[in-house]
Amino acid sequence: MSVELRPLGVACNIQCQYCYQNPQRDAGNVPRSYDLDAMKAAVEREGGPFTLFGGEALLVPEADLEDLLAWGLERYGSNSIQTNGVLINDAHARMFRQYKVDVGISIDGPGELNDARWAGTLERTREATAKAEAAIERLCGEGTPPSLIITLHRGNATGAALPTMHDWLRRLQAMGIRNARLHALEVESDDVGAAYALTPEENMAAFTSFARLEADLTTLRLDVFDDMRNLLRGTDDQTTCVWNACDPYTTRAVRGVEGYGQASNCGRTNKDGIDFVKAPVEGFERYLALYATPQEHGGCSGCRFFLMCKGQCPGTAIDGDWRNRTEHCDLWKGLFRGLEEQLLDAGEVPLSASPERADVEAAFLELWAAGQTTSIAGVKRWMAEQHESTAVGAPLGDVEHGDAPHGDVPHGDA
Ligand code: SF4
Ligand code: SF4
Repeated sequence: MSVELRPLGVACNIQCQYCYQNPQRDAGNVPRSYDLDAMKAAVEREGGPFTLFGGEALLVPEADLEDLLAWGLERYGSNSIQTNGVLINDAHARMFRQYKVDVGISIDGPGELNDARWAGTLERTREATAKAEAAIERLCGEGTPPSLIITLHRGNATGAALPTMHDWLRRLQAMGIRNARLHALEVESDDVGAAYALTPEENMAAFTSFARLEADLTTLRLDVFDDMRNLLRGTDDQTTCVWNACDPYTTRAVRGVEGYGQASNCGRTNKDGIDFVKAPVEGFERYLALYATPQEHGGCSGCRFFLMCKGQCPGTAIDGDWRNRTEHCDLWKGLFRGLEEQLLDAGEVPLSASPERADVEAAFLELWAAGQTTSIAGVKRWMAEQHESTAVGAPLGDVEHGDAPHGDVPHGDA
């Protein structure tokens, strides 16, 4: 669980063509000011620590940034930030060291493979990418390697680009990068879909190629595959939010704090361009409905991977309607099938193929109907306790947010 502090909301220095925050920008919902004291009070109300987030977090003037980071270090012992990396300068690098800042950088590849992260003209885009690449190298050289978020799309994940991406990841590993998260592109409009979306087959081929690459990598982890294996094994306490029954109106894994201290949700569900107020009560109707709804009508009924996938992130739901399952169903189902087979070949029994599955599903339905959720491991612990006691009450676990490759550091397509 993390507090995402967004002093300047979705304001950004570049214009990624596919950004999930574009509906908010199109609606003119871009703040230009903030109140430091109000933000700090709100972070404390949420229980901190916080991750500086945007838009682009480094648009905050250096003096205010230093104020927030110094306060964060003093109050919580460390800081984190999610950025596109383009603006990182000497002062930022010094602050990252001085105030123990975990840095996450969103970048889709080297050189032209990052062109979808558009900066106005091709020349400015390539210049911006070069700056982000230089920032990554610099931070690695200073012993504070950032984690990366890489979105896969038509510009970087079709046949010709994949070998270049693999070489780039090998170079990043040699530089010291330890964590990278692969994102399937969230399609916010028909235009974005036409320009950047991979076909289900291309998506599958791309992710499968990275799964093969991961087997060769020694120190760099692509956490999506670890998450999926852990879900199949039922050892999923630390998996990211996209696998953990997220209520789009409360987004437990993301507690946003905007520039005047107002609470907000994970921006992935803001399909109307409006930062809706956070609902006071969590609900899991989406997951009860997905379980019961036939797949031909946008649900997940009968899918043996439902416990692991749960229809995935509501921000990626078919037609932008959180009631539906993810638009990437074919991808996740195909990957779960492959990983399931690998585990079976290795003599393990994944939950998808276990006789225990029906009982665990029933326990989840009971929890969700009571307005609660937890991990598969949490449900299994709860079931074990139920055998020993008739006490009512279920364990509410935390989940990490799906947009960050490590620890508590969250979100971001900055
Ligand atoms: S990324 Fe998806 S699952 Fe995670 S908090 Fe945001 S909407 Fe929820
Ligand atoms: S793989 Fe598809 S059908 Fe199965 S749970 Fe995920 S989204 Fe639903």
